[in-house]
Amino acid sequence: MRCPHCGSEQCQVVADTQVETKGYGAGKGCCGFIIFGWVGLLCGLCGSGKTKSSTQHYWVCHNCGNKFRL
Ligand SMILES: [Zn+2]
Repeated sequence: MRCPHCGSEQCQVVADTQVETKGYGAGKGCCGFIIFGWVGLLCGLCGSGKTKSSTQHYWVCHNCGNKFRL
């Protein structure tokens, strides 16, 4: 993997795990509705009461310290 910033191959993949609990709130849904319309409202409903654990992988360049996703 080459760093897109400096072109170095001194890059290492790093896993970042985030656990977030999502609950559907009226305010949240309204915000989604205002910004994204009906799609946002549905997104708010879909995320109701679910605990989501997401692991994100990204690369760190040891040469310049740049972080980037694939
Ligand atoms: Zn770099």
